[in-house]
Amino acid sequence: MRRRRTPIELKSTDQIKLMRAAGLVVAEGLAEMSAAALPGATTGDLDRIGREVLARNGASSSFLGYANPPFPGVICSSRNEAVVHGVPSADEELAAGDLISIDYGAIVAGWHGDAAVTVSVGTPNAQAAALSAACEKALWDGIAAARVGGRLGDISHALQTSIIASGSYGIVEDYGGHGIGTAMHMDPHILNYGRPGRGERLVAGMAIAIEPMVTLGSPRTLELADQWTVVTVDGSWAAHWEHTVALLTDGPWVLTAADGGRAELSSRGIAISSLATPD
Ligand code: MG
Repeated sequence: MRRRRTPIELKSTDQIKLMRAAGLVVAEGLAEMSAAALPGATTGDLDRIGREVLARNGASSSFLGYANPPFPGVICSSRNEAVVHGVPSADEELAAGDLISIDYGAIVAGWHGDAAVTVSVGTPNAQAAALSAACEKALWDGIAAARVGGRLGDISHALQTSIIASGSYGIVEDYGGHGIGTAMHMDPHILNYGRPGRGERLVAGMAIAIEPMVTLGSPRTLELADQWTVVTVDGSWAAHWEHTVALLTDGPWVLTAADGGRAELSSRGIAISSLATPD
């Protein structure tokens, strides 16, 4: 059921700085979990690391207890044909060549950060690694299209165009990005495909989570009996990348990237906001 649309929450610069604190916790946790995603580790092990990083930083989880049935982890771990919302488990062991998406959210002082990476376990499967690279590239191309004065459709279009340019991949339509701030999931919903110049006007103070999901086969998905795990209908593997981005008059600030997005965006000719101080 679609939520009723509500006015988009706009943040002050002080509030965006609080969101940056949450974003840095997410970046720290994802870096540690990515390094630990080795053959023989379980997705339950990754979840435990996610909990440790939250505790170390005095942060709480955006995911734990979310919705109904209450989500039982602090990460979503979505392996191979799982697209998003996979449930971490001590029984799910990672094997060399697996492709795993780790999605992680943190709350600091009431403000949320949300990001996801996709990692190859051990020696990468070449086709899966290319899929993940295409998805990550699309994420940054989408972020580069998020400009104050533009439209939401500019981002959606950039995501879609980037994925199509990378190869013959499925673009998941059943899930997408979202506004974020005092809650993890807020309006607007952000499609991973669309037309430029359409949709909501992008204004300073918006914070959005951009999250392309790409598959090696069909883009169609279904939810498993656990009422969480979303898999591709045809069993093809999927990749998923995400960042939380603040939109400011003088440029974006990628709140969940350790460098604020500086490297990836400068390679696309875009300067990040002056509000971003080197960390
Ligand atoms: Mg998200």
